[in-house]
Amino acid sequence: MSDDVFKKLVSHCKEYGFVFPSSEIYDGLGAVYDYGQLGVELKNNIKKYWWDSMVLLHENVVGIDSAIFMHPTIWKASGHVDAFNDPLIDNKDSKKRYRADVLIEELMAKYDDKIEKEVEKARKKFGDSFDETVFKETNQRVLENVAKRNEIHNRFVKALNDSDLVELKAIIEDYEVVCPVSGTKNWTDVRQFNLMFSTEMGSTADGALKIYLRPETAQGIFVNYLNVQKTGRMKIPFGIAQIGKAFRNEIVARQFIFRMREFEQMEMQFFIRPGSEMEWFEKWKNIRIKWHKALGFPERKYRFHDHDKLAHYANAATDIEFEMPFGFKEVEGIHSRTDFDLSQHEKFCGKKLQYFDPELNQSYTPYVIETSIGVDRMFLSMIAASYCEEEVGSDDKKDTRVVLKLPAVLAPIKLAVLPLVKKDGMPEKAREIINNLKFEFNCQYDEKDSIGKRYRRQDAIGTPFCVTIDHTTLEDNTVTIRYRDTMMQERINISDLQSIIGEQVSMKNLFRKIME
Ligand code: ATP
Repeated sequence: MSDDVFKKLVSHCKEYGFVFPSSEIYDGLGAVYDYGQLGVELKNNIKKYWWDSMVLLHENVVGIDSAIFMHPTIWKASGHVDAFNDPLIDNKDSKKRYRADVLIEELMAKYDDKIEKEVEKARKKFGDSFDETVFKETNQRVLENVAKRNEIHNRFVKALNDSDLVELKAIIEDYEVVCPVSGTKNWTDVRQFNLMFSTEMGSTADGALKIYLRPETAQGIFVNYLNVQKTGRMKIPFGIAQIGKAFRNEIVARQFIFRMREFEQMEMQFFIRPGSEMEWFEKWKNIRIKWHKALGFPERKYRFHDHDKLAHYANAATDIEFEMPFGFKEVEGIHSRTDFDLSQHEKFCGKKLQYFDPELNQSYTPYVIETSIGVDRMFLSMIAASYCEEEVGSDDKKDTRVVLKLPAVLAPIKLAVLPLVKKDGMPEKAREIINNLKFEFNCQYDEKDSIGKRYRRQDAIGTPFCVTIDHTTLEDNTVTIRYRDTMMQERINISDLQSIIGEQVSMKNLFRKIME
């Protein structure tokens, strides 16, 4: 995959009303985006899939919707005021700004690529007799690259854990990392940069309170933990789920909706007994990877990546990464947050946030396992994995079609209803079908252009089913249904439409896979 593919995705999203740059008529605003008429449908479907998988499937998980503005002391207690920083570095020639940690991660990824290329070359050369483990243990070039990568990795982890900014710069210099824009090694020192946006609440300048736009939704859950536990009579273990906006003043904003300054998170905090965190960490890892894989994309597109540096609150952490056009990238984080957040809030607010466990006959501050996924990154991964360009047609009439092979449950429009011609009662029949189905499925009517062109338009936005009304329809109530991925067409009775489509677009089948 390349930059080209990524550019195509971005323009496809714009051309078909999925994602627009924010404030576009004013030339946009860095790393802020708006969702268009189809984007909002896809986004809502992703959110529903997540929300229902949490609160419908688990009777001990409930939802909340907390405010974006919160008491500023919350961010002191959570550690964000002091520690929610990224290490930034500038190239003096291009004046471009980078995250020092990301530059080093990309450097390591280059060594991984080199190793992978050697392995692939050898696999081709030796065919069936190839033994990857032996090759990796003996090939000189592979051994050298592995040694280099490990050396960088060890220095990197130590520098992050010691918050050693001088060492981060030294790694960048020692391995001759160049700026991709200027091509030079003329770097500034590495500095810490706090990612929180702040604003003022209250009318007078003197009395105004400095407050922050939340950089994560999780704290809204922690500060409501007792409210929910008491009013919902929740027993540990139990979870609280929330979907909402978060804001981060990201240093680098060049990756479309992968890294935004205003984005949306779907987070679930699961409150447990201290000491049971590793068991629950594994359970939630398993549930969450199944949620992703149930959508039907190839397994090889997913991997876990354990954190090199644990955040200030965590004792175990892993990311679920998805293969984007620009490599494997984090889509979701699963963290064992211990009792860090609740204990900090106890200290700062002076109130007990404990749970009395009737089985143990004792009170404790619960431990927490968090699952945290970005709606926008999930959106991007779905578009990236679904986008295909396919050669279609026969030799004398070759054509390319762009098709979004989105899982039917997530597709913005489920059914397009197309009268063959704009007369003879066909538009009326099409409207009748839509009127019957629109309570259940998002349907679209289209009568403009040839049927072929209309199919292409629906392919490009990922509509799984098209139905064509023709003269025979008016006689016997049958229609031609066309399936997006196979382009297969068949004649069916109008009365069967609901069950055929319903079966494919229902989330039920996915939920069953998660609970297996
Ligand atoms: P990264 O290392 O990529 O900056 P992170 O580890 O800081 O991400 P978390 O704090 O774990 O991210 O946030 C949880 C999830 O929120 C991420 O997995 C991602 O899907 C999403 N997310 C975080 N930052 C952004 C952003 N700037 N734009 C879009 N989504 C984001």
